Amino acid sequence: MTHAAADASAPLLELDGVSRRYKMGSEIIHALREVSFKVHRGEYVAIIGTSGSGKSTLLNLLGCLDTPTEGAYRLRGRDVRGLDDDALSDLRNREIGFIFQTFQLLPRTTALENVELPLVYRGMGRSKRREQARRALERVGLGKRMNHRPNELSGGQRQRVAIARALCAEPTILLADEPTGNLDSTTGRDILGLFEQLHAAGNTIILVTHEPTIAARCPRAIRLSDGQIVHDGPGAQVAAGIRGMAEAVAAEAVSA
Ligand code: ADP
Ligand code: MG
Repeated sequence: MTHAAADASAPLLELDGVSRRYKMGSEIIHALREVSFKVHRGEYVAIIGTSGSGKSTLLNLLGCLDTPTEGAYRLRGRDVRGLDDDALSDLRNREIGFIFQTFQLLPRTTALENVELPLVYRGMGRSKRREQARRALERVGLGKRMNHRPNELSGGQRQRVAIARALCAEPTILLADEPTGNLDSTTGRDILGLFEQLHAAGNTIILVTHEPTIAARCPRAIRLSDGQIVHDGPGAQVAAGIRGMAEAVAAEAVSA
């Protein structure tokens, strides 16, 4: 895919009329309806919406954990349609770093070993992957906690380990699903600060959230409602639209 990488103006990822339907017995659930957008290298984008609006479905598609029912998803110019499970997991290992609300660390394993795991899957030799994992932990401010197990770390530190794990394989995109959802607000702000640092260092980040205050901090936000994009713009504007609607609903309730 060097031709795509060489063209700096080409989008990193592109969704074109993407729909995802689930069949539940006789019912069809339209989790995503004709979603189209592009993300360029170095962007930091929030996906915001209420519960059930399709955020996780969208993140799973972006992360090649799932494929569209309709429409095209191109990652670095490559259409993921028609790829089998092996090809998808290969693409995922090379291109995507996932960060989850619940950290998903191995409990009996040190921070360093957790971080180097993706590199084991890539077949990287021991000393090289140790070095790379060490550097990733230093980048997230955990240079002094490398040999601690998850239960010897705070929630914020655990999420930093998970971020280091996502970073250490140098993915093209970081995908985070409610990464501050299990953290107190101060720790959550620290983690958002870390994302901002990573963005400033050139990383491409897509972060799912249901909190307008988080979307407001992102340069760009895409708002989903009922599986459709209803707003795509600067984070502060998209967040203000959500608050504006809440105020309008409240005002209507008062005047009624
Ligand atoms: P969000 O992450 O914004 O809460 P989801 O993407 O999880 O939303 O879900 C969007 C819609 O799709 C919801 O109505 C949900 O119930 C439905 N859904 C999600 N995953 C599945 C599935 N595996 N099978 C059936 N329905 C699903
Ligand atoms: Mg979800």
